[in-house]
Amino acid sequence: MYDYLIVGAGLFGSVFAYEAKKRGKKCLVIDKRNHIAGNIYTENIEGINVHQYGAHIFHTNNKKIWDYVNQFTEFNRYTNSPVANYKGKLYNLPFNMNTFHKLWGVVTPDEAKRKIEEQRKASGIRHPKNLEEQAISLVGTDIYEKLIKGYTEKQWGRSAKDLPAFIIKRLPVRFTFDNNYFNDRYQGIPINGYTEIIDKMLAGIDVELNCDFFQNRDRLEGLAKKIVFTGMIDQYYYYKFGPLEYRSLKFETKVLEDTSNYQGNAVVNYTDRETPFTRIIEHKHFEFGNQEKTIITKEYPAEWKTGDEPYYPINDEHNTQTYKKYKELAEQEKDVIFGGRLARYQYYDMHQVIGAALVAVEKEFNPSNS
Ligand code: FAD
Ligand code: UDP
Repeated sequence: MYDYLIVGAGLFGSVFAYEAKKRGKKCLVIDKRNHIAGNIYTENIEGINVHQYGAHIFHTNNKKIWDYVNQFTEFNRYTNSPVANYKGKLYNLPFNMNTFHKLWGVVTPDEAKRKIEEQRKASGIRHPKNLEEQAISLVGTDIYEKLIKGYTEKQWGRSAKDLPAFIIKRLPVRFTFDNNYFNDRYQGIPINGYTEIIDKMLAGIDVELNCDFFQNRDRLEGLAKKIVFTGMIDQYYYYKFGPLEYRSLKFETKVLEDTSNYQGNAVVNYTDRETPFTRIIEHKHFEFGNQEKTIITKEYPAEWKTGDEPYYPINDEHNTQTYKKYKELAEQEKDVIFGGRLARYQYYDMHQVIGAALVAVEKEFNPSNS
C-alpha cells in the first residue's frame, strides 16, 4: 500500500513525490509516456541536450524557487534572446529599442514611444479586450502586423481577437537596448539537461512508465490512500461537463552533419502566417556547445483532438467557464490533489509549477500554516 499514487512524472508530480518521500511517505509515480520528466524531458544526443518538447528556459524572480531547483542541478548563464524572422528580415525580441530601430529607424526611446502612441491613437483602442487590442496598444500596428499577428494566429489556430490579452503580456516591452526575453532576476539552462533534475527528485521512489491511469484505474486506485493527479482534469471526470480545448504541437528534429552552426541563435521565431512552423530551436546554443554537428527542431502548432498531446490550455471564455465546473468538483475531493499545467488548466511556466507544488505540499503536510 502506498501513501500517494502520483499520476504524471512531470515537474509537479516529481516535486510532490520528492517532498512526500522526505516526510517518510511512500509514493508510486506513474506516467503514460516511456520516460520521466514530462514536457521538460531532455535527451542527450551526440553530446547535445535536446529539448524534446520545445525550448525550455528556466527563469524566476523568486529566490526560494531558484534555490530550490539549484539543489538538483547547476545552471549555466544562458539568457534567452530570440530573433524574429519576418519574410527574411530579422528583428530582435522581445520588443525593445533594437526592434524599434530596425523597424522605424528611430534612435531614442522618446521617438519610439511617439511612434507607438501615434499608431495606438490611430487604432482608436482605449480599453484592450483581447490579444489583438492588447498588442496594438502596447507596441502599435506595425509590430502587431509583422511580429505578432501571424505567429499568434498560427500558434493558437484562431484569430487574435478571440484570445485573452494576458498571453501577449508575457512578453516584455522595453525602451532600452536589452534583448533579454525575460525580466526575471534568475535565468539559465541546467548544465546536464532537465531530465537529471527529475531523476534526482525521483531517486528511491517507485516509478512505473508506459502506464496510463485511465487504462488501469481500478488497479491503481486500490494501491494508495491518496492520489496526486497531474493529467487532464476533464478526462479525470470523464468529460462530464464537455471537453476542455487544448493546442497541440508537432516537433521535427534533425541532426545536421554538414554544419556546426545553422542559425547562430538558440531560438528563431518565424512570425509570418505562411511558414507552417512557429520557431526553430538550435539546441547546442542553449549550452554554448562547440560540437562539429548541430541539432535543430522545428515546432509546428497543431489542432488538438482526443489522444493528441495537450500542450497549451486555451484560456478563452468558454473553456474558462467549463474549467470552473471541473474545479468545483475537484475542490470537494478529500483524497485527490490536482496539480500542474493540465489538472489546473493553466499556462504555467516551470517556476510557477514548482511554486504550486510546494504550496500543495504545505497544504498537505502542514495544513495549519497554509
Ligand atoms: P507535464 O510536464 O505535462 O507532466 C504531466 C505528466 O503527466 C506527463 O508526463 C504526462 O505524460 C503524464 N500524464 C498525463 N496524463 C496521464 C495519464 N492519464 N496517465 C499517466 N500519466 C499521465 N516553462 C518555462 O518555465 N520556460 C519555458 O521556456 C517553457 N517553454 C515551454 C515550451 C513549450 C513548447 C511548452 C509546451 C511548455 C513550456 N514551458 C516552459 C512550460 C513547462 O513545460 C511546464 O510548466 C511544465 O513542464 C509543466 O509540468 P507539469 O508537471 O504540470 O506537466
Ligand atoms: N508571440 C508573438 N510573436 C513572437 C513570440 C510570441 O506574437 O515572436 C506571442 C504569441 O501569441 C505567443 C505569446 O506571445 O503565444 C507568448 O509567447 P511565449 O514565447 O511566451 O510563448 P511560449 O514559449 O509559452 O509558447
